[in-house]
Amino acid sequence: AEPRPLLELDGVQAYYGLAHVLQGVSLTVGPGELVALLGRNGAGKTTTVRSIMGLVSVRGGRIRCDGRDVVGLPAEQVARAGVGYVPEDRRMFPGLTVRENFRLAALGSRRPRPQQQAAVRRVLEVFPQLEPHLDRDASRLSGGQQQMVAVGRALICGQKLLLVDEITQGLAPNIAADLGRMLRRVADEGLGVLLVEQNSQMALELADRVFVLDQGVVVHSGDAAALRADPTWMAQHLQL
Ligand code: ATP
Repeated sequence: AEPRPLLELDGVQAYYGLAHVLQGVSLTVGPGELVALLGRNGAGKTTTVRSIMGLVSVRGGRIRCDGRDVVGLPAEQVARAGVGYVPEDRRMFPGLTVRENFRLAALGSRRPRPQQQAAVRRVLEVFPQLEPHLDRDASRLSGGQQQMVAVGRALICGQKLLLVDEITQGLAPNIAADLGRMLRRVADEGLGVLLVEQNSQMALELADRVFVLDQGVVVHSGDAAALRADPTWMAQHLQL
């Protein structure tokens, strides 16, 4: 049998005020899966992620995280259900070093201390570039390094599902590719990753499955390997 999904959206309807932005979005992310959410600007990708986190008014449909209904819960309770959110604007608190960021995340995980330390070591294996910067102010690192810290915090917290919203925006292509490979590795270790990405080409290369949103509905979904091999589909959906 299929493992229980870490994320299930079923017919989600979401609004900004009177604007009906998501008009029935359904998707799933399983453990060990990297799922790409694609679509042109304004399609509703960020709104989907914010709906999961309880940051947008959801007035229909269901959202389950690791089996738990989260519609109507505030963001911190969604986080407690195992969901890590890495938003577009990564913002580090000024004055905190990378090490302090990680220590706070470890404390928040409420795990025993040896496990906290092991989680930090694991993150440094995934993001070895951070090791030389552990004692620097995280808000002064490069954009790519800050994104690594943001993802690292979510991993150290022990989250099972990561929602990653356009974290490669504005980064040099090689740094973006590094981050992508690291997210792939995170998924390979058993977490679920929902990746919103402007660079559809890169997302498609990393993903197991793909959902394409347009005007608040899923207009296409499928297996990434099959879609990569289908030039007609690529031309229709990726030259947005
Ligand atoms: P982008 O790549 O531009 O972030 P997106 O697919 O993430 O695109 P959303 O940000 O989810 O799109 O936006 C979906 C729709 O909701 C758009 O029509 C947008 O104008 C609208 N919208 C987004 N944020 C708000 C808001 N705070 N108030 C009102 N409407 C909003």
